[in-house]
Amino acid sequence: MTVNLNETLFNRAKVTIPGGVNSPVRAFKAVGGTPRFVKRAQGAYFWDANDQRYIDYIGSWGPMILGHGHPAIKEAVHSAVEEGLSFGAPTEREVELAEEIIKLVPSIEMVRLVSSGTEAGMSAIRLARGATGRSKIIKFEGCYHGHADALLVKAGSGLATFGNPTSAGVPPEVVQHTLVLPFNDTEALEVAFKAHGSEVACLMMEPIAGNMNFVRATVPFMKRCRELCTEYGVLLAFDEVMCGFRVALGSAQSLYAQAIPGFEPDMTVMGKVIGGGMPLAAFGAKREVMEHLAPIGGVYQAGTLSGNPVATACGLATLREIQRPGFFENLGARTASLVSGMTAAANSAGISMCGDSLGGMFGYFFLDKLPSNYATVMTTDSARFNKFFHGMLDEGVYFAPALFEAGFVSGAHTEQDVADTVAAAKRVFATL
Ligand SMILES: *Cc1c(COP(=O)(O)O)cnc(C)c1O
Repeated sequence: MTVNLNETLFNRAKVTIPGGVNSPVRAFKAVGGTPRFVKRAQGAYFWDANDQRYIDYIGSWGPMILGHGHPAIKEAVHSAVEEGLSFGAPTEREVELAEEIIKLVPSIEMVRLVSSGTEAGMSAIRLARGATGRSKIIKFEGCYHGHADALLVKAGSGLATFGNPTSAGVPPEVVQHTLVLPFNDTEALEVAFKAHGSEVACLMMEPIAGNMNFVRATVPFMKRCRELCTEYGVLLAFDEVMCGFRVALGSAQSLYAQAIPGFEPDMTVMGKVIGGGMPLAAFGAKREVMEHLAPIGGVYQAGTLSGNPVATACGLATLREIQRPGFFENLGARTASLVSGMTAAANSAGISMCGDSLGGMFGYFFLDKLPSNYATVMTTDSARFNKFFHGMLDEGVYFAPALFEAGFVSGAHTEQDVADTVAAAKRVFATL
């Protein structure tokens, strides 16, 4: 009998690390089975502890937009390492990265670099509260903004629920200012603004929600969010940690600006792609908002490793590569062909499936029609999803191990990878 080294490692990990993992979704709890321990990765693939190869459709949950081991990224990181790992003093590369982000996302006039999306989201909320002098925040059910206490809330049923923590360890008093609304529900939005609009500091949203699989905010809904925020003096904060530099070079806000003339969010939270696989995230806004931050303003925020020289080198190199002509056109076309290939294969096997994608981000659902909110996403047949997931894993294709997660294609994925994936999906659909 051959030894399964993933299993050996998982059993060993569980002794010293809660659940054997350092971030819950990695444990395969939703889909069952043994997580794959990754040994190395290159291009569109990674290899597990048993040296089994997988086509990687999670890309570290988004950052690896160029695929693994891209030569320009490796070179940038290696040369940064030679110059020093961390200084706790400013560096030129931080300025360069800030300039690059602002050039690509014009709604941002100033930006602060941090080390994780959680930190960026949490700091953006504090800044919004400090800048407006208001306490309440609005978020949407199914949108994830990191695990800061005030944001770990989702609605129960009903239109709007105040303070209903999703995690143990979050006191109700901490989330009493967080108002949770259903996504893409304009009526609920109107009601909430009428009742509380003048006490709300910011409305935070994932414009393309990637933490309930893949759900776009509709254009009319986005338009109304913008109008109401302007009317009530609420800061519209886009959490583009996942979709930033992933769905388009100008991020999701550039797509909404195409549909809604003059559209801009007031604040933006970034992460994932801007670090290219290193711990780096950011939040930015107009100058008058950002100048509320210490050391100029009264909103405190700091970080020992913020703007880390190796992370900024990696992020800068990544942002430069994705600006190459045709990068997003090719990425978008390949991702769309993956989704259309998979859904066509499912439908011809008599299985209801639909999907959607933008740039290098996609979602697929065992549903007749694309969902527009969390409640509908959750009607997906999870037993079927889990069977499909494991079937694909056995075929050497690694999709997200939970039905409420988006998928990612990188610049390293080829037509052949997509064709191989669709062929594998056909074989798996036949067993469902
Ligand atoms: C991943 C993610 C975060 C949290 O980022 P971390 O770096 O994991 O802390 C926040 N918001 C969104 C939309 C995300 O996808």
